[in-house]
Amino acid sequence: MSENLPSLQQLLEQVSGKRFLDAVSPGDRGLADDIRFPFLGLVGQREMKLALLLALINPAISGVLLVGPRGTGKTTAVRSLSDLMPLVHRSLCQYGCLPEDIEAGGMDAVCPDCAKKYGEGRPLTYLDPVKLIELPLNARLEDVVGGLDEAAAAHKRMRIRRGLLAQADQNILYIDEVNLLADEIVDAILDAAAQGMYTVRRGPVAGTYRARFVLIGSMNPEEGRLRPQILDRFGLRLIVSGLTDPDERLEAYRRVRAYLTNPKAVVAAYAAETLQMRDEVQAARNLLPSVRLQPAAEQAGLQLVQRLQIDSLRAEITLFEAARALAAADNRTEATVADVRTVAPLTVRLRRSQFMVDYFNQQQVEEKEIQRVLDDVITPPAQA
Ligand SMILES: [Zn+2]
Repeated sequence: MSENLPSLQQLLEQVSGKRFLDAVSPGDRGLADDIRFPFLGLVGQREMKLALLLALINPAISGVLLVGPRGTGKTTAVRSLSDLMPLVHRSLCQYGCLPEDIEAGGMDAVCPDCAKKYGEGRPLTYLDPVKLIELPLNARLEDVVGGLDEAAAAHKRMRIRRGLLAQADQNILYIDEVNLLADEIVDAILDAAAQGMYTVRRGPVAGTYRARFVLIGSMNPEEGRLRPQILDRFGLRLIVSGLTDPDERLEAYRRVRAYLTNPKAVVAAYAAETLQMRDEVQAARNLLPSVRLQPAAEQAGLQLVQRLQIDSLRAEITLFEAARALAAADNRTEATVADVRTVAPLTVRLRRSQFMVDYFNQQQVEEKEIQRVLDDVITPPAQA
């Protein structure tokens, strides 16, 4: 990253604050469907934008959950990420062989073709941008994990068709209204996300697929709750509410009107900064492996989680990974206490359970009672 580039956060502030007053002439509306509203053109919603960018930079954050009513721009924001996607290495081989398979398991870990290629120093992968895969609301379990390939089965060749989860490997999987999805589908997705792979068995045939994806979910709390164990799997959680500032609402209206009139002009208005931001995301992702947490930042994070009485270990993991991503976004190799402070609300909210706090307090009372009675009945051993 060049020194005179503004940091990712500066860029976000600067562009989001820009007034969009240029008159936009009516244009060709014919192809508007595949023209996405630009990420940098979204008004306000600073925390949502930050969370989505951190998830692009560090997949170890393990996903983002957007909680809020309809019409707050959640889906628009997620779709607009498509223009900022970093590049990843994808296998050139139909069996999905990767150089890291050889590094971990030797030449036998890949197919003969790839072993030969590797020996000759030829690449096994190519660079490709991360894609946004959307889970349709009516998806069946078979669509998600894959099933028997019916066309092949008709010719007496049993074969497994790759499901959506396999397609989501190294991509972003977006689930709108995640709280309305059938339990079996949510469980399959979360298991695959946790392990980075999954296996489908259909009769005598089985297929194992990589499924290392970043999960983004959105939900409207008015339409149903999310099971606590599912909620816990999303690293960053945010409450997305409508814009409250009248100036911001007016500005949002102007931009939407401009976009509906001439989407290409709106995209063009942000094109230069969008490219710049995409480069920043890629640079941050490249820098991430060398970013360390300062000891003071670790201590602050641990203390925070302890004071809030959060049990899930995922709270610390996400907090520290998000702080590292933020430092990388800022072109720094050390994550500080300030980074922890910035990302903390995103990582700890919706993790506290009053039930568990009460339960443990009650349990401590019982433990003391047990010890007291025990000491009464059986003389405690002498202190060594
Ligand atoms: Zn291969």
